[in-house]
Amino acid sequence: MIRRWLHKVLGKSARPSKPRIFTPAQHGIRRTGIHPCALKVTRTLKENGYAAFVVGGAVRDLLLDREPKDFDVATDATPEEVRRLFRRSRIIGRRFQIVHVMCGPDTIEVTTFRAHQEDDDEDRVTAEDGMILRDNVFGSQQEDAIRRDFTVNALYYDPETEEVWDYHGGVDDAKKRMLRMIGDPDTRFREDPVRMLRAARFAAKLDFHIDTATRAPIARLAPMLARIPAARLYDEMIKLLLSGHAERGVHQLRAEGLHHGMLPMLDAILDHPERQKFLHAAMHDTDERVRRDQSASPSFMLACLLWFDMREQFERLRDDGLPEQTALHAAMDDTLERQRAALAFPRRLDGMIKEIWALQTRFEQRSGARPFRLLAHPRLRAGYDFLLLRARGGDAPAELAEWWERFQDAGEDARRAMLLPAEAGSSKRRRRPRRKPASTAGDDA
Ligand code: ATP
Ligand code: MG
Repeated sequence: MIRRWLHKVLGKSARPSKPRIFTPAQHGIRRTGIHPCALKVTRTLKENGYAAFVVGGAVRDLLLDREPKDFDVATDATPEEVRRLFRRSRIIGRRFQIVHVMCGPDTIEVTTFRAHQEDDDEDRVTAEDGMILRDNVFGSQQEDAIRRDFTVNALYYDPETEEVWDYHGGVDDAKKRMLRMIGDPDTRFREDPVRMLRAARFAAKLDFHIDTATRAPIARLAPMLARIPAARLYDEMIKLLLSGHAERGVHQLRAEGLHHGMLPMLDAILDHPERQKFLHAAMHDTDERVRRDQSASPSFMLACLLWFDMREQFERLRDDGLPEQTALHAAMDDTLERQRAALAFPRRLDGMIKEIWALQTRFEQRSGARPFRLLAHPRLRAGYDFLLLRARGGDAPAELAEWWERFQDAGEDARRAMLLPAEAGSSKRRRRPRRKPASTAGDDA
């Protein structure tokens, strides 16, 4: 109560009414860094008498000399007014309405300035612990700035004047490489607990420090993430894991105490030293791929995260007497279903995840016609990459991974010469002890 009251009084009086305006010479952002489609959108809006700024991550990234991932535009035009101005546009709305304006293959997200209202306002619904349940109130630009999360995310760039409008000291914070919450961190994290994950993600991606006052409430409020819908949690986690900075991001999460409960898959892995090695190899590889602009798939990442769970389950079922293949498929289905409750990943990913897992057992077959059949498998590359990671994480014999590397590169005759005798290369390993490092999901007998 008292905190809420204090926030109301202080929050209101602390609101800067005027932005600090930075000239191009001061901020260093060049118009050429702005996507042509974003330029077109802001120009059209201004020609029609509306305010229009590039905002959010794009301004922040350009200020830091990074290439923006996407461009968002903020305006005082309503979603309906924006839609009328652009032929190829549509209103989409989840928690609030935004307009997607399409130019060629690219999409610009246009949002109307929104207000950050107090709890007693009618259009804003808040749960008892401060979490915002509904939030769709238009406001002024100044109000729009205050409802954003971090100071560096509340910068507005006007492509016409080339000015940056800064309401909360974001330009200075960017110089200090500081991630600072706008307003009272405790209140803002309660309103939307996902901001805690965003803090970890941005700190990792931008290589920023999290300001002490911003960091302070995180460990205490982390359990609130349990109430976030599983689909939103999945979106956030994939953003973090495929950001090109997964290793540092997960390190940040651990440092903030956010990996428990919040990322149900992560806490199981991060508390097992032998699993950690594999996960770090996976994140390291994915980070490298993203930085080289190669594709990095959510399925591959999920296959890595859930691998140990699946295998444990498989071994249990097999030890209970189920035939290997039955145990494998039951374990795969069960693992995916169980995890989906906490992290709603799309069902269309299941097929690829299972193929990657099932291939692991098939790699053990190194005699007869089987290895040749595997060469034509559509997921061979992903399965093999997975095997390499396991080898690096001490979860598969290095020799097995090397064998497959040579086998794929070799000519027909050399391949034949590489085959193992039927005895050694097939499935005579059923009685192997549990948890042997080289153990895999099962044999394809
Ligand atoms: P990225 O590089 O990941 O796209 P971003 O800062 O652009 O980073 P978005 O999720 O695209 O992040 O959101 C755009 C902007 O909307 C943010 O910069 C921030 O100002 C605001 N925003 C997004 N999510 C929140 C949130 N949960 N709470 C407050 N403001 C938010
Ligand atoms: Mg963005």
